[in-house]
Amino acid sequence: MEMGEKNILCNSVVAHDFEEVCPERVIKFKPPLYKQRYQFVRDLVDRHRPKKVADLGCGDTELLRLLKIYPCIQLLVGVDIDVEKLQTNGHHLSPYLGEFVKPRDLDLTVTLYHGSVVERDSRLLGFDLITCIELIEHLDSEDLARFPEVVFGYLSPAMLVISTPNSEFNPLFPTVTLRDADHKFEWSRVEFQTWALRVANRYNYCVEFTGVGEPPVGAEHVGYCTQIGVFQKTSGKAPEACASEQRERHVYKVVYTTTYPSLQQEKMLKCVLVGEVLVQVDRLRLRTLRAGERGARGARPGPPAADAPPGPHPALGTALTEAERRRIERSPRPFCAGGKFFVPLQRLLAYPKLRRFQLAEERLRALIADSVSLSADGSAVVVDLHNPWDYRPEDS
Ligand code: SAM
Repeated sequence: MEMGEKNILCNSVVAHDFEEVCPERVIKFKPPLYKQRYQFVRDLVDRHRPKKVADLGCGDTELLRLLKIYPCIQLLVGVDIDVEKLQTNGHHLSPYLGEFVKPRDLDLTVTLYHGSVVERDSRLLGFDLITCIELIEHLDSEDLARFPEVVFGYLSPAMLVISTPNSEFNPLFPTVTLRDADHKFEWSRVEFQTWALRVANRYNYCVEFTGVGEPPVGAEHVGYCTQIGVFQKTSGKAPEACASEQRERHVYKVVYTTTYPSLQQEKMLKCVLVGEVLVQVDRLRLRTLRAGERGARGARPGPPAADAPPGPHPALGTALTEAERRRIERSPRPFCAGGKFFVPLQRLLAYPKLRRFQLAEERLRALIADSVSLSADGSAVVVDLHNPWDYRPEDS
């Protein structure tokens, strides 16, 4: 982490009291630089919708926490050499209660591995996106030399993002030499780009250079504070990739792993479906009762009719589109018989909240059959028309 980015200045070679001594020279980024780097990755995820993402040198897992909310990501992995950081921060990646109530559409597994990025572990093969945010400057010369063959040659992700400090920016900081005591080097733009182009060329990637952290007015020539290379695999195969290397090879230690509830899991899908069905059936039942009461009072029949599709919800303002309304109107109507209220499954499937699951009637029936009552032929959900807890004006 670099100076001034988070409130904690750990191991910084910058005098901690510099801001007081020389406040006009301290550059404050808005948003803070680390957030700009994370936002850069989030924008990439928005654009490319990767399924499998790994963050190498994930530190306190902050980027992973931001990425776990993306519906496209199904496997999210963090790797760091600092086991304590992983042990302390793993729990931040657990699903929240709300994620059980409203599960994701697709599965998500999050795993934290303890290990070095210069070790080969086959569980990191085949990723769509690998990020190395402020990592490479922490590698000594031996590890830096091994980094390309492991990350580009062996892991060979479809896309790779590498960010590192731009040393040309440093004279704008009250810094002595390096931005952090653990940095082994900081590169100028030419140094980073020369390294990146050589690596990209060797492992069949193309690379684009950009950055975050705009320089102040008048100092534009120094470039971004953080320089970034975005590498994308071209069609050719990485020279090192050969069958023997694709064998199972588990070197990293799992420090933490969790699986998120999702609608791909039958248990969760059942739970959510039954909930939606019961809410919808009860809504229709109450509309039918209210329409009946209005009829009994001789009130003029006014919209909406008992079994007509509901209009916009007064509180939520959810309005149906014309196409949705027509689809509901075309579906079989709910009906009453012998004190029971029947809602055809076809009717339920016409409502957007159930339609989004894209289920055939047969599948819906199978999923809800052991939780709700169905008509003898299984084509409709059946409930009592009257519930003892229904509100009746004459009760009050
Ligand atoms: N990427 C995170 C971020 O941007 O917030 C953390 C960056 S921090 C400056 C660098 C991280 O790289 C540290 O957590 C450190 O433990 C990790 N690291 C250093 N050398 C490593 C290696 N050889 N393999 C894996 N992680 C390493």
